[in-house]
Amino acid sequence: MAYNFFSQALAQLKQDGQLRQLPRLEHSGKWIVRDGKTMLNMSSNDYLGLANDAQLCEQFLQKYQQNLPHFTSSSSRLLTGSFPIYDEFEQLLAQRFQRQAALLFNSGYHANIGILPAVADKKTLIIADKLVHASLIDGIRLSEAKYLRYRHNDMGHLADLLTKHHQDFERIIIVTESLFSMDGDEADLLQLVAFKQQFGNVLLYVDEAHAIGACGKTGLGLAEELGCIQHIDFLVGTFGKALASQGAYVVCDQVVRDYLVNKMRPLIFSTALAPFNVAWTHFLFEQLPSFAARRQHLNRLSEQLRSQLAPMMTSPMPSQSYIVPYILGDNHRTLNLAQHLQRQGYYCLPIRPPTVPKGTSRIRLSLTADMTETELAQFIDCLRKEIQ
Ligand SMILES: *Cc1c(COP(=O)(O)O)cnc(C)c1O
Repeated sequence: MAYNFFSQALAQLKQDGQLRQLPRLEHSGKWIVRDGKTMLNMSSNDYLGLANDAQLCEQFLQKYQQNLPHFTSSSSRLLTGSFPIYDEFEQLLAQRFQRQAALLFNSGYHANIGILPAVADKKTLIIADKLVHASLIDGIRLSEAKYLRYRHNDMGHLADLLTKHHQDFERIIIVTESLFSMDGDEADLLQLVAFKQQFGNVLLYVDEAHAIGACGKTGLGLAEELGCIQHIDFLVGTFGKALASQGAYVVCDQVVRDYLVNKMRPLIFSTALAPFNVAWTHFLFEQLPSFAARRQHLNRLSEQLRSQLAPMMTSPMPSQSYIVPYILGDNHRTLNLAQHLQRQGYYCLPIRPPTVPKGTSRIRLSLTADMTETELAQFIDCLRKEIQ
């Protein structure tokens, strides 16, 4: 039978303890309900706690009243799918980032699998951090460029690769996340900018998926915090995480935007985001600077969790943010601990290879600004009791 191949592959995954299934979850604010059990969501990307803010939702609907934006764009933006809200939002993005241009995409995945193949040809070398997101890897694979990877955040290794190869290519694109999704650590963006100046033919591609909204004085990400927005050629971010919506953007020079409009296949050949969705993202993004108190609270929670967890780990605590891995190393112990924490009312998920390197299985904790310090302290107590 033609389907034997599929069932055998699934059986193998099951045997290896790697079978993935879609969980049945209900949501109730910051809590998750599964099989009748209510758990505090410790695995959400809703870093600012905007997703469950009923007041914001109400204000948005009030703003439009009977004239709600369209629920579909019915077409690619290059045909009939362009609505004024797109341009308005792109102008707002460009203005906030103080850059020439911005361009919206359907998702971060679309952005990352679309931009790299459009801008990188055979004369391009892409050098990516070892831990970049799967969507970036897929974008690299779809491109015609040669590619290399440097050890995670190892600037010495990257310098060696640049020195060795920069004369053999017309351009080199360095690809990194700003805040890494599994370790919660930060890329050395200032050193990357320095490489640009040192080598001349280097472009920077930075994915701020986990940092936009929650990092930076006005929420514009790690590049804002480090004062290097102007030096990043492709500054990408997504709206599905701290911005409580969906979609993505690149902030760049006008010539890059014009080029992408002509060459980027996921932009050209996919129905644009619904205007309703873009209006909602625009509504939240407009208010981003005013969410400073949420960012501060999130930072306090993060410090609390990191400082208490670090002494409980046998390996160093990598996190510098609200994404805090509790690294156990062993697969089975990680799975058992996640299950125990769930029974205790905390929705914690085990992350194991191949998602993370072998021997670094962990519980990936992510904090949101709608958690309280008391809730977090209770969680830490629960974790401490279990591992002692
Ligand atoms: C989540 C994520 C994406 C994908 O963004 P979507 O909008 O969910 O498709 C891309 N890059 C990184 C680093 C991410 O964490």
